[in-house]
Amino acid sequence: MNFRFNDSSITVAIVGCGGFIGCHLLDAILTRTQWRVFGVDLDFYRIQHRLNDERCEFMVADLADKNVVERIAKYPVVVNLAAICTPSRYMAEAPEVIRSNYDHPAALADACAKSGSWLIHFSTSEIYGRTSADSGLLVEDETELTFGPVTASRWSYATAKLLTERYIAGLQNLKWTVVRPFNFVGPYMDYMPGVDGNGIPRVLANFSSALVRGEPLKLVNGGVAKRSFTSVFDAIDFLFALFDVGQMGLVTDDVAKVENSPFSQAFNVGNPDNEITIAELAWKMRQIFTEIKGVSMDSIPEPEVVSGVEYYGEGYDDSMRRLPSVDKAERILNFKAQTPLDVVLRESLTWFVGHYGS
Ligand code: UDP
Repeated sequence: MNFRFNDSSITVAIVGCGGFIGCHLLDAILTRTQWRVFGVDLDFYRIQHRLNDERCEFMVADLADKNVVERIAKYPVVVNLAAICTPSRYMAEAPEVIRSNYDHPAALADACAKSGSWLIHFSTSEIYGRTSADSGLLVEDETELTFGPVTASRWSYATAKLLTERYIAGLQNLKWTVVRPFNFVGPYMDYMPGVDGNGIPRVLANFSSALVRGEPLKLVNGGVAKRSFTSVFDAIDFLFALFDVGQMGLVTDDVAKVENSPFSQAFNVGNPDNEITIAELAWKMRQIFTEIKGVSMDSIPEPEVVSGVEYYGEGYDDSMRRLPSVDKAERILNFKAQTPLDVVLRESLTWFVGHYGS
């Protein structure tokens, strides 16, 4: 089958279409292709401007509904972005987090295996588990995976995501590609606690919220952990590199026979050049905030150190370093994330300040 970008008979299903990645993917598909979109989500506030687009059909639903799952799997390409991915919920609501990140995507994978759809499933870089400060590059098919004890319920999310990957990989007849995002950031990421969401979002949204509110940035356990932040726009380009394979007519009924293809593969999608400690990130974001707002550094409170358990609750644990190997995406898809850290952070914070005001 060919998925030509100018073929208006193609419909892509996006599960989690109203989320942070989904809203950017929707915009990109509508701008760069003639495809139609079937979008499923529970919340549509990020995509208000698309609700009346004649190339889109939206459904308020989630994957807990079997009929919805069957309906989604009728489309030839299914991108599954739906997940509970708010860190504070990993401790407080582990069973719900596991249902959302294992039961629901496994049911979707079964339905896609039956219908023959190509499932592009979003997993997480957290499946690399409790990495240490001296962990090197994380390589998709080589790195050993180690998690904390069951009492460290932080790993509820990662283990559910990992089990889903294993389930997908074990299904006969499923055309699949797994994406492991490494700290995607950009406009519309997460939420501002107490305004349009509750609990503790991921670090960039937390730091941005604190800056807008004039509160101290919180450095969990001193902020010595490292992350590699990746522009969501690079992530969308990765998906288009994948879709290009469809353009080339490589999505056959027997993808196993297509050599060096992106099928039956998990890909790290990240930017190793953007690695930074969380304490350095706090410093950079304070600096960028002074430039955006035209205020002096003295007017911004100093960061505060908090313990992980105090901040997130019992069962918190951390990965100390998450550095992606990106060779596979480069080799198979000729894709490499391009956006430097300073550009990513400025773009994200400028959006956040403009959106939530101060
Ligand atoms: N973190 C922090 N302050 C915050 C939020 C997070 O110091 O307000 C730390 C967190 O402990 C972790 C890192 O920042 O070491 C990244 O956390 P995040 O929740 O963004 O996602 P993760 O990469 O751990 O999945």
